[in-house]
Amino acid sequence: MLIQAVNVTKVYKNGLTALNDINLCIDSGEFVFLTGQSGAGKSTLIRLMFREDQPTSGKILIAGRSISRLSERETVALRRNSGVVFQDFRLLEKNSVFDNVAITLKATEVPKEQIKLRVPEVLEQVGLVGREKEPVINLSGGERQRVAVARAIANKPMILYADEPTGDLDPQTSMELMKLFVEINNQQTTVIMATHDREIVNHFNKRVVTLASGRIVSDRRGGFRL
Ligand code: ADP
Repeated sequence: MLIQAVNVTKVYKNGLTALNDINLCIDSGEFVFLTGQSGAGKSTLIRLMFREDQPTSGKILIAGRSISRLSERETVALRRNSGVVFQDFRLLEKNSVFDNVAITLKATEVPKEQIKLRVPEVLEQVGLVGREKEPVINLSGGERQRVAVARAIANKPMILYADEPTGDLDPQTSMELMKLFVEINNQQTTVIMATHDREIVNHFNKRVVTLASGRIVSDRRGGFRL
């Protein structure tokens, strides 16, 4: 078991219960869609899994280890093993493609020489060969999201989280990005993607975990259910 959520509840400071007693197991190598209407708790669950936030009660285990109390070294290891992609890309718009991808590697103290080798390699993987020097501001939405994916997978993480990654893309560009996620998943990276895009979920025959008002209301393979 790679990821385990055990009785996870998240109550925000304003008293709102975003997650209500979630139990979920995800195996290494799985591709999981998290679906459900806006406000269902998808982003909250993803944020807890990559430890941007903590549950109010319950626990999350990654590779058998609770992530609620980690040493500094364990936190770095967890970050290195978790790549994240957001709907709004969150890139440094004025910086080059190279700098945007290198940022993850620098943050985890990868030596400069290795960074110079790894960035072109990962750009090739996402279909952006030779675009290192281009400022992100010159790129299309689809290309920007590919840079964000390259940044997320630069450290070869065990888990790639994506929160509505196609939300700002047109249908064709979305489908191309999805193919990239499937390729990344085929190379052993576990992919967890929050989306409310029915077309996408229905097109790929993957595990679909549906949330409604902070609870899991369905967990099955293939097809969108609300
Ligand atoms: P989804 O990703 O499915 O749209 P979210 O996890 O973003 O759902 O939100 C779940 C619920 O928690 C929503 O009602 C939302 O308004 C609330 N929420 C999310 N983040 C916060 C926060 N930082 N403070 C208070 N409430 C929040």
